[in-house]
Amino acid sequence: MVSRLPREEEARRRYGRRMGVSSSVLDVTTMRSRLDRLRRHAADAGVAATVVSPGSDLRYLTGIAGSSFERLTALVVPTGAAVAPVFVSPALEYAGLGHVPLGELGIEVRTWVDGEDPYALALGGVPGGRVAVSDMTPALHLLRLRDAGAPDQQLAGPVLRELRMRKDASELAELRAAGAAIDRVHARVGEWLRAGRTEAAVAADIAAAIVEEGHARADFVIVGAGPNGASPHHSVSDRVIEDGDVVVVDIGGPLPSGYGSDSTRTYAVGSPREPDVASAYAALQAAQQASVESVRPGTTCEAIDRAARDVLAEAGLAEHFIHRTGHGIGLDGHEEPYIVAGNDLPVEAGMTFSIEPGVYLAGRWGARIEDIVAVTEDGVERFNTRPTDLVVL
Ligand code: ZN
Ligand code: ZN
Ligand code: ZN
Repeated sequence: MVSRLPREEEARRRYGRRMGVSSSVLDVTTMRSRLDRLRRHAADAGVAATVVSPGSDLRYLTGIAGSSFERLTALVVPTGAAVAPVFVSPALEYAGLGHVPLGELGIEVRTWVDGEDPYALALGGVPGGRVAVSDMTPALHLLRLRDAGAPDQQLAGPVLRELRMRKDASELAELRAAGAAIDRVHARVGEWLRAGRTEAAVAADIAAAIVEEGHARADFVIVGAGPNGASPHHSVSDRVIEDGDVVVVDIGGPLPSGYGSDSTRTYAVGSPREPDVASAYAALQAAQQASVESVRPGTTCEAIDRAARDVLAEAGLAEHFIHRTGHGIGLDGHEEPYIVAGNDLPVEAGMTFSIEPGVYLAGRWGARIEDIVAVTEDGVERFNTRPTDLVVL
């Protein structure tokens, strides 16, 4: 969408140290305690071992970032502490991972070269029984693991979410920093958003600022002007922004540590053309506030969703709020817990998620307000602290 590599490199140079990188967040003590907790939850789930593929699950446990390819890389964690975890890696990729202290964690490294069978290598010595496999493992690896001696499989998501949903102090610090960084971008949107420019041109400027303010990259930049704002999944287009447009700006991306931002504010270019903007926006703002204020330990996810929905229903806007109220955020931009009807999970201190109700008037305009919040011991902390008013430019 936007050429941002040079700026990304520049931001890494400028902010890399101040913002911290994955290895500074993940020290050996943290990794050891995460592996111990994984084993405890795996025991509760009755699985004999957990297979973790590259992606945010592996990054969470070891700090190793990267994605899965056709060559098997995996961390295999037997549930019983008597058997050491195994990290299987193609020799050519392990060369770049020498800095990760797997040995200090008691993890046995098994490298392999093309022509060898990495699946047998991964399962060698692992006790028999049901194996949990991380959710984003490609079928290519999943089915070959099955054939290599792990026929009884389940998703590891339900096990790993018990760890990843509850953020520790260093994760909360990263998410707080990400929130502050994206707030600085929203504070500057008036520099770029004006009548006569296309959504895409505005989005390119915003994407550059997301990196300038300390993100590793811009993951998404939604600029939905006028009728495009009524489509929650609109990205950007060549629509020329007009005087009187209401504009939804939903932006975010990860810091170098992998922990991300995600915040929406709604702007008006001059005074809004549509007559119902002031009243509907006031209801949206009240709905978002009510939902944030409902957050405290013990409140269920569905109650937090309902808090927003009830206010919009009261204002006659129920059918214009067409998505869940929020999603968890951490190493993934969307993760558990989901703030949605039917989710009776009580929230706990350390959980982090978005509160992002919207109103969408098809063919005319839309608005959304989105903050990331954390559940604290006795209430809630907002990681986005910009005013939630409609920003009239
Ligand atoms: Zn968003
Ligand atoms: Zn979101
Ligand atoms: Zn989304």
